[in-house]
Amino acid sequence: MVTKECLFCKIIKKEIPSKAEYEDDEMLAFDDVNPQAPTHILIIPKKHIEQVADISETDAEIVGKLVLIARKLAAKRKLEKGYRLVFNNGPHAGQAVYHLHLHLLGGRKFVWPPG
Ligand code: 5GP
Ligand code: ZN
Repeated sequence: MVTKECLFCKIIKKEIPSKAEYEDDEMLAFDDVNPQAPTHILIIPKKHIEQVADISETDAEIVGKLVLIARKLAAKRKLEKGYRLVFNNGPHAGQAVYHLHLHLLGGRKFVWPPG
């Protein structure tokens, strides 16, 4: 399902331009418009799922694919020294766009605990 109002659904429909890193029938990966690291790619399912809290058992394959695409893009970018995968869920985590997305961040050192 692709919703009318959702920003990332508009990116999927190419109504809003983005720099694609990967695309297939179910998934899209594109550069974050406001990168927080030299590599900052968002990996999303084309199915509109609002957040991690809304993932259902039948979405398990989609969620697995998000991580596999992230792993492949990290290898393509040669992020051998490490990278971070992030799902922000809800306001306390700073989720701004309510269409499930996995952040792939790399190319610099990250601190732990996160801010
Ligand atoms: P969240 O805080 O919801 O986990 O992350 C949303 C991300 O989407 C942010 O990192 C933000 O920079 C990115 N973003 C917001 N609007 C756009 C846009 O129109 N295009 C792209 N490529 N990224 C966007
Ligand atoms: Zn959406």
